[in-house]
Amino acid sequence: AVGLIQRGMGAYQRIEHALSLPAEPSPTRPPPSRTRTRTREPDRRRGHHEGAALALRNLSFGYTADRPVLHSVSFTVPHRRQTALVGRSGAGKSTIFALAARFYEPDSGALLFDGRPSTELSRAACREHIAVVDQSTHVVHGTLRDNITYAAPDATDAEVRRVVELAQLEEVVRRLPGGLSGMLGERGGTLSAGERQRIALARALLARPALLLLDEPTSHLDTINETALTTVMKDAAQECALLVIAHRLSTVQHADQIVVLDNGRTVACGPHEKLLTTSPTYRQLAAGQTLRSADTSPPPVTT
Ligand code: ADP
Ligand code: MG
Repeated sequence: AVGLIQRGMGAYQRIEHALSLPAEPSPTRPPPSRTRTRTREPDRRRGHHEGAALALRNLSFGYTADRPVLHSVSFTVPHRRQTALVGRSGAGKSTIFALAARFYEPDSGALLFDGRPSTELSRAACREHIAVVDQSTHVVHGTLRDNITYAAPDATDAEVRRVVELAQLEEVVRRLPGGLSGMLGERGGTLSAGERQRIALARALLARPALLLLDEPTSHLDTINETALTTVMKDAAQECALLVIAHRLSTVQHADQIVVLDNGRTVACGPHEKLLTTSPTYRQLAAGQTLRSADTSPPPVTT
């Protein structure tokens, strides 16, 4: 719990715990199988149905009644597109993830999944729709394959190979004695933070979410290589809707659309080049440390 507070990601952390992993499964038992169906109709992910993967309509929310955090936020996350969410620390980005995972309910406005209001869906159904990847990844005691198939234990070898490739884990498979069958220690043993993060990504992709929520690392240390991440996101967006909390210029430059959040308000939306000319807030973010252009930049100033 101390770690959560230190990292200031309380709400978001809870999403991750609930969505991707129970904390400590017993080493003697295989990971519990989730009761999700793997026979989701293809249309759901191909975007042939009505509605974006996620839409926020005039969404307002405060953790406490006296202090609103989001003010009538509206934007859509279309299927098979990359949507980047940017804004200063405290703007409300993680809160949007927490609302998408239904950890809180909006005070007013609506959240639509594939065009269906969240109020008509169970929380479980909404969480089935999404997967979350952030910088804290829980590697469990078990094989590399167990770790990748955690949320989809019935995955075939071909499916596992596909996500290993997508998440650029081949080097890990080669290096680990036993490859996919090699054991990982409880804390991930020989894995770097970036490798653990790629495992989380492979795990999320294997679960075949309609919507992938990715909280990009704020630190340049021990994270996914920038070029690799760009490729992974491009590939992921071929399969699902991607909403990424972006801290890197390279990410926003590749995004199909960028939603600019300022003090809990959506102040601009569009591609990078357009926002540079139309949004003063975006220009500030891009010029400052909130969106960093190179891994040599100092870490962002947090408030
Ligand atoms: P961002 O992710 O853009 O940095 P957050 O969504 O984390 O912003 O936070 C938005 C606002 O909500 C901030 O003022 C923050 O202090 C507040 N906040 C975040 N989480 C909580 C919480 N669990 N309880 C109360 N206030 C919170
Ligand atoms: Mg945040």
